[in-house]
Amino acid sequence: MQSKVFKDLVDQEHVVEILTGAVLASRTNVESQEMSHAWIFTGPPGSGRSLAAVAFAQTLICPNDGCGTCNDCMSAKTHGHADVEIIRNEGLSIKVEEVRELLTRVAWAPSKGGWRVVVMEDADRLTESAANALLKAIEEPGNRTVWLLCAPTLHDVLPTIRSRCRHLQLRTPSQDAVTNILIDRDHIAPEMAEFAARGSQRHVGRAKYIATNELARSHRRTIMQLPLQLGSLAAAFQAAQTLVELSTIESNKASQEYDEKEIEKLQEAYGKGGTGRGMASGAAKAIRELEKDHKSRSTRMVRDSIDGALLDIATFFRDVMMVQTGNAGSVINIDMGEQIAHYAGNSTPHSIVNKFGAIMNARSNLASNASPLLTCEALMCRLAK
Ligand SMILES: [Zn+2]
Repeated sequence: MQSKVFKDLVDQEHVVEILTGAVLASRTNVESQEMSHAWIFTGPPGSGRSLAAVAFAQTLICPNDGCGTCNDCMSAKTHGHADVEIIRNEGLSIKVEEVRELLTRVAWAPSKGGWRVVVMEDADRLTESAANALLKAIEEPGNRTVWLLCAPTLHDVLPTIRSRCRHLQLRTPSQDAVTNILIDRDHIAPEMAEFAARGSQRHVGRAKYIATNELARSHRRTIMQLPLQLGSLAAAFQAAQTLVELSTIESNKASQEYDEKEIEKLQEAYGKGGTGRGMASGAAKAIRELEKDHKSRSTRMVRDSIDGALLDIATFFRDVMMVQTGNAGSVINIDMGEQIAHYAGNSTPHSIVNKFGAIMNARSNLASNASPLLTCEALMCRLAK
């Protein structure tokens, strides 16, 4: 058996092998260790953990071993399949009410008699009570539901849950593998593909975005120059503002597209043309609720986008460290070679380690809901020293 959708998993041969074994085992009626009812996919951002989970779901329900092109495969990916549920978290956490609702939805048998698959893309955002509600469902023996949970690391999931799941660890793909997939799959010119693979730190999705989006490249260039423009306190505050503004522009562009599509879908559900005075009050209320959800999602996306920018800036200091320790060959931002060398010559390794630490500290503050602008201002002041 060879699943075509597994081909999109860049550089993850070990994972593909295990998943293929599981799909084969799932086709026999014999209870086997290979096919588990609950899985955890972990891996750093960009390793493709949710891509792997969705590909596994497709292969389980596809009549042609995960062809990627049949009705089942296509609808599974686009949230349209009756037996595949993809939970993409839109708020900052997944609450117990949401899990209970989900459990009612997936309580019945799969429509086609095979498997019902639930992919939870952000299992690390489950609140404790939500995780406990989920635990009961995962423990239920003998049903036809398969749970695929995704999280950055195992530690992001409650021990009670992770002890009942089979664990798959994805790795960050090599730079060559990312370059090659951009060339082969997305038909991107080799030079651009290589630049994007390096600039994205081997994050396949982000690499494609950088390679195909001129605005993103120009924002990235601006952000990468920020560490060099911290001559005064005023400049540091200005840099923080630039970082937050550019990140907000990018994430708003992405979330607006989502929002419009969803509102349109909801309007359709309530009967199109029912806007304005004629619109039923139920629809207006539903739209208000949806808009509230959108606000919470857009807050999260801005935070994610700032986090991405901070990781980009961190590569600058990483490169400076590389030069200082005699490893100039492994510099990521080769287009900034001169500036990196100059910075390396005018600072001590100790101060660079501190700056690197300050960036990681700012990231963890952001993750625990600190104000983005205040966090970035504090960070830029520390980077200026
Ligand atoms: Zn298929």
